[in-house]
Amino acid sequence: MFDKILIANRGEIALRVIRAAREMGIATVAVHSTADADAMHVRMADESVCIGPPAGTHSYLSIPAIISACEITGAQAIHPGYGFLSENANFVQIVEDHGLTFIGPSAAHIRIMGDKITAKDTAKELGIPVVPGSDGGVETLEDAKRIGAEFGYPVIVKATAGGGGRGMKVANSDAEMEIAFPTARSEAKSAFGNDEVYIEKYLQKPRHIEIQVFGDGKGNGVHLAERDCSLQRRHQKVFEEAPGPSITPEERARIGKICADAVAKMGYSGAGTVEFLYEDGEFYFIEMNTRLQVEHPVTEGIFGVDLVREQIRVAEGLPLSFTQDDLTINGHAIEVRINAERLPNFAPCPGKITAFHAPGGLGVRMDSALYDGYSIPPYYDSLIGKLIVHGRDRAEALARLHRALGELIVDGVDTTIPLFHALLQEADIHSGDYNIHWLERWLEANLPE
Ligand code: ADP
Repeated sequence: MFDKILIANRGEIALRVIRAAREMGIATVAVHSTADADAMHVRMADESVCIGPPAGTHSYLSIPAIISACEITGAQAIHPGYGFLSENANFVQIVEDHGLTFIGPSAAHIRIMGDKITAKDTAKELGIPVVPGSDGGVETLEDAKRIGAEFGYPVIVKATAGGGGRGMKVANSDAEMEIAFPTARSEAKSAFGNDEVYIEKYLQKPRHIEIQVFGDGKGNGVHLAERDCSLQRRHQKVFEEAPGPSITPEERARIGKICADAVAKMGYSGAGTVEFLYEDGEFYFIEMNTRLQVEHPVTEGIFGVDLVREQIRVAEGLPLSFTQDDLTINGHAIEVRINAERLPNFAPCPGKITAFHAPGGLGVRMDSALYDGYSIPPYYDSLIGKLIVHGRDRAEALARLHRALGELIVDGVDTTIPLFHALLQEADIHSGDYNIHWLERWLEANLPE
């Protein structure tokens, strides 16, 4: 059992982990850059260590600084949160080489899922349905055109090392492929230092459906149903919900079992998310994230379980505290991401918070590291809070979201709060009738840049 863990992250996710650890009686160590000396995670942890200057590369991504912070404080394990070092297999290896525990999956599993072609091949072998496309990397324009003809345009050229929606180009014809193929390769080269690309059938109106899974590292796996994260801007999620409004209980049981069995077979340890595109009743694997996701609270809302607590338990070698049969969906949960950004172009808007009031009441959860007088530093991503609501059904959750947004006050910087007020006026949001392109089209029509 751990006495003390270190959280290699900042912001709301660092608080999230501190809260779970405290309820388990585990002491916490926060790490921070010089820009974050006054941050909430530093104030809330039992101890804190300054690990470097503001730039993430010299602080939250500095492996030697983080390992040293563990050694100085006697922390036995590291929770990586999301982003930063959470999917860095090399980091996991170094953590283990120092006799520390990484709260997450093995370096080997992170490596497999970090390479998109290997991930897709692995998924296929484990019986997970994948998007039809090239077998592995595509080297020449001639091969790219041949694949376009074989699967039928449109197709999408994607970077093997991809992430964050970069290095992806759609081609509708051979002529477009002549531009899409070299562009995707050169973007991949400059973003990831690796120009390998692969090609998939481009799905025209899919939803983004992801299955939350958990493995105990000993051959047992469970799923915690799906989240629908189709409302995206530039491949960034802004509004997430569980369960998915378009998924039937039969579909959930079928795809959930496939994913839980896959995790069990891999011997996977900890939390993971298997991401799919979903169109006309079919699921198509796109990638697996080997970490806790930003949007995990909607799953916690409908199942009433603490996923961070389970991550820590599994890392301690304990079994999960629930079985598949214990997991029944209760009601509906929605999360909206509050970013410090200026509409309509979503430009980052750091600055001093002059007033902050979090909403409350039944079924309302606010995960945020904000406080009155806090200065949002300009060095990190613009997520400043997540508002999560839970209701007995989707309509109640939407009404509660409307009510809670009305209570939320964030003054001093621009935020994405007005976007959600506007979205709640839309009939499609109330009926749940949207796909991955809906928000981009809505923004073009309603909030032109
Ligand atoms: P990344 O790791 O860069 O986020 P993903 O493979 O997860 O890349 O894809 C991100 C998003 O790109 C998806 O949520 C979807 O919106 C779009 N996308 C990816 N592959 C396809 C496809 N085959 N057809 C249509 N859209 C796709």
